Amino acid sequence: MTVATHKTFCRFCHANCAMLVDVEDGKVKAVRGDPDDPEYGGYSCMKGRELPDSHNAAHRLHHSLVRGDDGAFHETPMPAALAHVASELRRIIDQYGPDSVAVFMGSGGFQNSAAWAASYSFAQAMGSKHFFTSVTLDQRPRSSPPPATASGKAG
Ligand code: SF4
Repeated sequence: MTVATHKTFCRFCHANCAMLVDVEDGKVKAVRGDPDDPEYGGYSCMKGRELPDSHNAAHRLHHSLVRGDDGAFHETPMPAALAHVASELRRIIDQYGPDSVAVFMGSGGFQNSAAWAASYSFAQAMGSKHFFTSVTLDQRPRSSPPPATASGKAG
């Protein structure tokens, strides 16, 4: 089989490293940093280089699943799965209030520029103040100088 190499970028985190992807018979075989990229110069980290394992994992989800009354997950068409989610959200909000639901956007929805606006609007529409991203969870929650420094009293 012929291996085709494509230029792309890693979507795993905000860094968007320039990557080369080897594809054989429609399957991702390897990824590595693009040495010709003027910005990254071939850099990539282990997370990015391990993406073929995630991409080709046997347990990767290819269909929406909904847990049935038997406790098992069942393959469900997306419209039915979304209707189930909507029904459950309605039940939870009616019973516990909108702040019982949180929205987590991750690190930008795999660089989908609409992800922030859509997910934040979704949280606002529900009336929940709990909106999280990888920045709110992975980093310190607030950037502010210590009071002594701010008042000019730091020694
Ligand atoms: S290769 Fe690593 S640092 Fe670069 S975008 Fe992917 S995960 Fe981020």
